[in-house]
Amino acid sequence: MHPKNTGEDALPNFKAIADREVEAILISHAHQDHIGTLPVAMRRFPGAQIFMTEATAEVGSVLLHNSVNVMTRQREEIGEMSYPLFTHREIDRATERWRWCPMRQRISIAGERAAQREKDTLTFEFFDAGHVLGSTGVMLRGEGQTVFYTGDVNFDDQTIMQAAVFPEGEIDVLILECTRGDHAKSEGWTRANEERRLAEALAANFERDACVLIPVFALGKTQEILAMLHKFRRQRLLPEFPIYIGGLSSKFTDIYDRRSHTTRRQLPRLKLMREVAPFILNDETVRSAAVRGGRVHVLSSGMMIPRTLSNVFARRMIENPQHSIFFVGYANPESPAGLLQEAGQGGELALDPDKPPQRIRCNIEQFQFSAHATRESLVDFAKKISPKKVLLVHGDPPAVEWMRTTLSRELSRSEVIVPTPGVEVEL
Ligand SMILES: [Zn+2]
Ligand SMILES: [Zn+2]
Repeated sequence: MHPKNTGEDALPNFKAIADREVEAILISHAHQDHIGTLPVAMRRFPGAQIFMTEATAEVGSVLLHNSVNVMTRQREEIGEMSYPLFTHREIDRATERWRWCPMRQRISIAGERAAQREKDTLTFEFFDAGHVLGSTGVMLRGEGQTVFYTGDVNFDDQTIMQAAVFPEGEIDVLILECTRGDHAKSEGWTRANEERRLAEALAANFERDACVLIPVFALGKTQEILAMLHKFRRQRLLPEFPIYIGGLSSKFTDIYDRRSHTTRRQLPRLKLMREVAPFILNDETVRSAAVRGGRVHVLSSGMMIPRTLSNVFARRMIENPQHSIFFVGYANPESPAGLLQEAGQGGELALDPDKPPQRIRCNIEQFQFSAHATRESLVDFAKKISPKKVLLVHGDPPAVEWMRTTLSRELSRSEVIVPTPGVEVEL
């Protein structure tokens, strides 16, 4: 699902494959942009088998049901008459057809376990992508050729997630995400240093009785930030303080907790809901919850899309110089979160285009805790693999352009392709 477009414009370009028989759909992970229109795809390609990890299935089901509620509301609010694109019942029927696959197992497109040696059957294999719970990269093998799709990947450890474990053997075609292609890794950045900087910033804000908002994705970043806050409290870097998250985030956090012993991760014994014990806000209570010093609000959406918790809460605090907003990950430059960072303190912005603009007086600070690989590590991976062809996907134009230029220079024997949506590429 396109993160910015709405209605039919948010659907993938199905037209390009409309007259094909689709045998299988492989889901890399359960972020909205990767799974958000799966029920529509299943309706259009009823013969397709659907494969994903068990964790992705659990998260994805929650996400899609939530999405129906959001779309039903948007039908009224923005007059998008194609919404909801699917119903709760349709999701229930769809999820019954999802096939759960373990990591590191070759499976045929028909859904059978495949022998390592079988050369002719088309098979896939999921590899841990280290991005969010259940996330994978996908290896396709057939006719003696291999295609590897990274999905969204992180090659570094996060606070909960562990770094990706990707294949290093022969790959003919590499489909590479480029999210951070336009961000140079800053000198001396380490996650440990950045965690310390966040703890110090929070302490300084508590000192002057500030309320802090951290906009986050409900899946992934919420749990990473909660785990960091837990560490800060336990290390006595910070005192006890109230933490608030949204209802959807709490459901995903429950899944992280339930699966803490069965997934590859750090801090496996940490049960976030019990030990961090966040208070839970919903669409209504976020409008009246006190904007009070010493509280931390870890609210979605990460891009501060209008009417989401982070957007509604931010509008209540940005005119007050006492309070602070901390950004901790990627935001599309045209999203409200991107525009807010661009405008900065002293600027003016309508966080919700339907509401009047506001003067930004609160503090704005940035921290780097991306769940995506640095561009340097993406280039290193591509060099290690040295594929015949590299396809660059999942990046804003400047990000893709930096990756294209760099890889064309560093990988002189690879063909670097920036695919045009809807146009077939010969692999
Ligand atoms: Zn993702
Ligand atoms: Zn993505």
